[in-house]
Amino acid sequence: MISFLPLGGASDIGSSCFYLNVEGTGIILDSGTHPRKSGIDSLPRFELLKEKNVDVALISHAHQDHIDSLPYLVQHHPYIRIVTTPQTRAVAEITLHNTVNILQEQLKDEMTMRAYTHEEIDLLIQSVEWQEYEKQFTVNGYRHESADPVHATFFDAGHILGSAGMLIEHNGRSFFYTGDVNLEKQSLLAGAVLPKKHVDVLIMECTHGATDSSLLPSRTSELARLATTTNKILNRGGSILVPVFALGKMQEMLSLFWKLMLKGAIAKTDIYTGGVGKKLCSVYDKNRYTVGYNDTDFVLSDIPQRDLYEVEQIDDLLRHQCIVLAGSGMVIQNTLSFKLAQRWLTNPKAGIFTVGYMDQETPGFRISNSNKGNLIQLTDTHEPQNVSCDIERFRFSAHSNRDGILSIVERLRPSTVILVHGEHESIDWMGYSIMKQFPHVKLHAAEVGKQITLFE
Ligand SMILES: [Zn+2]
Repeated sequence: MISFLPLGGASDIGSSCFYLNVEGTGIILDSGTHPRKSGIDSLPRFELLKEKNVDVALISHAHQDHIDSLPYLVQHHPYIRIVTTPQTRAVAEITLHNTVNILQEQLKDEMTMRAYTHEEIDLLIQSVEWQEYEKQFTVNGYRHESADPVHATFFDAGHILGSAGMLIEHNGRSFFYTGDVNLEKQSLLAGAVLPKKHVDVLIMECTHGATDSSLLPSRTSELARLATTTNKILNRGGSILVPVFALGKMQEMLSLFWKLMLKGAIAKTDIYTGGVGKKLCSVYDKNRYTVGYNDTDFVLSDIPQRDLYEVEQIDDLLRHQCIVLAGSGMVIQNTLSFKLAQRWLTNPKAGIFTVGYMDQETPGFRISNSNKGNLIQLTDTHEPQNVSCDIERFRFSAHSNRDGILSIVERLRPSTVILVHGEHESIDWMGYSIMKQFPHVKLHAAEVGKQITLFE
C-alpha cells in the first residue's frame, strides 16, 4: 500500500510535515515548526507516527516551517536517515544553531518541552547526508520492508538557496512534492527546474492560491516603484526599515537595493544588515556556481554593509538616512524588526517596506495593512500607536503566483493532486481551478491526521 498522512502544514502555512509510506518504507517530507506558535503547538503532530515505520526524512529547504522540528523528530526516531541538498545542509547548520538561542529564550518557563541544544545540532548536522540536484539516490531506510527500492531525486525549486522539489519513484510509480517553489527568476536565483516526465501523484504548495495573478504587478514595475519610493524617503532624510527573513529574502533584498544603487536609480546609502542573514550571505556566495544563479560574478559579501548589531541606539538609525534589513520577516514580537518597527512607526520621515508573505495573525500583517495616519496595535497586549511613517507594500515573492502553480499540474500531468501549504481560500481556489481545467485529476485537500490511500 502507498499512503500519505499530513502531520502539519496542510491547510495552513507552518510546521510542514508529511508522512509518505511506500510499501513499508516510511518517508518524512519536511519537518518544520509554526513561526507564530510556540511550545508543543508549534510542532507537527509527531504522535501520529506511533507504530509506523519512520526510515528517512527528506528536507525540501531550510526555512523554519520546513526544518526546525527536525531535532525533535530525531529525538523520537534516532536511527532516521536525513537527506537534503548540500546547500540546505550548509544553511541549516547556521539557522538551526540560531534557533537554539531563540528556543532557549522562548521555552525557559515551559514544562512540557525543552529547547534542543547546540551539541544536538552539531550531531544532527554531522548525520545529515547530502545529495545534489538531479542525481537519483535510494531512500530505503534502516528498517525498510519494501521489496523494491524506493528512489528519490531533488530538483532545484528556485525558492531559496538549496531549496528542492522531490521526485520519489517506486516500482513504476512516481510522486512529486514541490516544497516551496518559484518558477520565475528572482534577483539572485534562477527559477525552478521540474522533472521532465509525468508523475502519478503531485503534492503541491498553494501559498498564493488566493491572489489573482493578473492583479499582481510585474517584477519590473515593482523594481521601478521600489526605486521611486526609496528615493522619496531618503530625499526627505528618512530611513527605511525592511523586515526580512534572514534566509532568502534578506539576500534578495540586499541584492536588489545594491543593484539599484549601482545603476544610479537610488542614491548610495548605508545599508545595515547583520546576524544570521549576513552569515548566510557567505553561504550563498560559496554556492553561486553550484546552483541556478543568475550572475555568478555577483558576490553578496562584497556589498558594503554596516553591522546592525553594532548600533548603540535605535534612534541613531533614524538620525541619518539608511536602509535597514532586519529579521524577523513577519515582525514577530521580541525580534529586532519588531523593536525597530515600534520606533519607525513614530517617525514621520521614515518608511517601512513590507516585501513578503505575512501570516494574518502577525504584527507584520498588521503593519502591512496600515497606512500613515491610522492607529495600529502591534499585538493584542500592546497599546495602540499612531502610524506616523510611510508604509509601502511590495511584491518580491519567493513563491510562484497561482497561475505558475497551475502550470506545474499542466507540465507534470498527475492523476492525483494533493494540495498543501496554503490557507483555506488558497486551497479552495486551486482545487476549483484544477477541477475545471483538469477534470480527470483526482483531488485531495490535505488535512492534518487524515490519511489518504494513494495505491492499495
Ligand atoms: Zn520557504
